[in-house]
Amino acid sequence: MVKNNQENSPPELYAQPQHNIRIEQIDSHSREIIHSLNKSGFKAYLVGGCIRDLVLNKDPKDFDVVTEATPEQIKQVISRSRVIGRRFKLVHVRKGRKITEVSTFRSKGGKRTSKTNKGIVLRDNFYGTIREDAFRRDFTINSLYLDINDMKIIDYTGGFKDLNNRQLSSIGDSKLRFREDPIRIIRAVRFLCNLDLQLKKSLKKDLINFAHLLQEIPPARKYEEILKLFLTGNAKNNFITLLELHVLKFLLPNTANQCSNEKNKSFILNALSNSDARVKKGLPLTPAFLFSVLLWPGLTERIGDINSKKTKLPTLLRSSNIIIKQCRQDCFIPKRIENMIKEIWEFQIKLLKFPPKSKLIFSHRRFRAGYDFLLLREESGVNLGGAGKWWKENQPKSKRSYQNK
Ligand code: ATP
Ligand code: MG
Repeated sequence: MVKNNQENSPPELYAQPQHNIRIEQIDSHSREIIHSLNKSGFKAYLVGGCIRDLVLNKDPKDFDVVTEATPEQIKQVISRSRVIGRRFKLVHVRKGRKITEVSTFRSKGGKRTSKTNKGIVLRDNFYGTIREDAFRRDFTINSLYLDINDMKIIDYTGGFKDLNNRQLSSIGDSKLRFREDPIRIIRAVRFLCNLDLQLKKSLKKDLINFAHLLQEIPPARKYEEILKLFLTGNAKNNFITLLELHVLKFLLPNTANQCSNEKNKSFILNALSNSDARVKKGLPLTPAFLFSVLLWPGLTERIGDINSKKTKLPTLLRSSNIIIKQCRQDCFIPKRIENMIKEIWEFQIKLLKFPPKSKLIFSHRRFRAGYDFLLLREESGVNLGGAGKWWKENQPKSKRSYQNK
């Protein structure tokens, strides 16, 4: 934990030989943005996850720029930029299909910040200095700034040492920081698993104790975090840790409950490790497939495992609607994704009828996902009367599962 009294001391500076980040590793678009801002007299740095990942020799997902210029000033300096956001105003700069996020240094806002009665911050859109910006971030490892002009890392919170010691530390009292924004609890789990970090006992305790506040977070924000947890190549570990730390029950209560049954748990874990393997091969994953897996045990609890022709489509649809509606109370699911989930589930009935009446089934847009889902069910020990084998041997070559490539 970084104590408030350190908020006045000068930052640690780390020169290039100490961190080994090379300028070529930095995305050229963000470099251009920083140079343009510098030319107009504004200080600008790279910050956050990209520096953390580069220090750890990992490929950053995106490069975020932070500057002393206000959103309006950024917009004046950089063409192709757009001010976005209500809670936090920031600027998106487009180049081709790529968008780089440029934000203005922010401070915590102190007494001016508006909070709920549980202490959750509603609005804290106050500009500040680089130092204030560093201390309003969540974890020390996410609070490193890189000046690309001299390639020095600027560290106000001790994040560089923490990174080297593989330690996750909250900036300030973790009780307060988790209460201000409970989404940090999910972020903590993600960093812990994805970056193989250690968690101090006190942080772990606070994480567990405050996880219930996730119920206060808008479902749409939770949806975004769930996608980051489970679609980026480390889903299985994230899932196990969320269960162990009793966090999952505040994100996906039905899924967490169903996992007290070992069969359900191993179905989900097997599916997630399949997804992780797909990410490693560079194959795409869809939110719909993910949710069809996570919500399946809840569905089968209602209507039984769909392993005979007895289950009828209307019964399936009725229960699908109930399960998805229940899930929406905690985690938003877009309508488009809901329809796709239902189609994948409907295929569990359709694929029990083989040979099919018409070959058109092979060109259905959800055939592959439905078939892959069926294979996962068989892998988890459900007897589907040889359905998987039949569809594998009888489908046109071009439609064969991406899972087996
Ligand atoms: P990822 O690899 O997932 O992109 P990230 O740390 O870069 O990880 P972002 O969501 O891109 O995550 O956020 C960028 C930076 O903004 C973070 O590194 C952190 O400094 C800050 N940040 C993000 N979310 C929060 C939060 N809830 N509270 C405080 N700071 C945050
Ligand atoms: Mg990021």
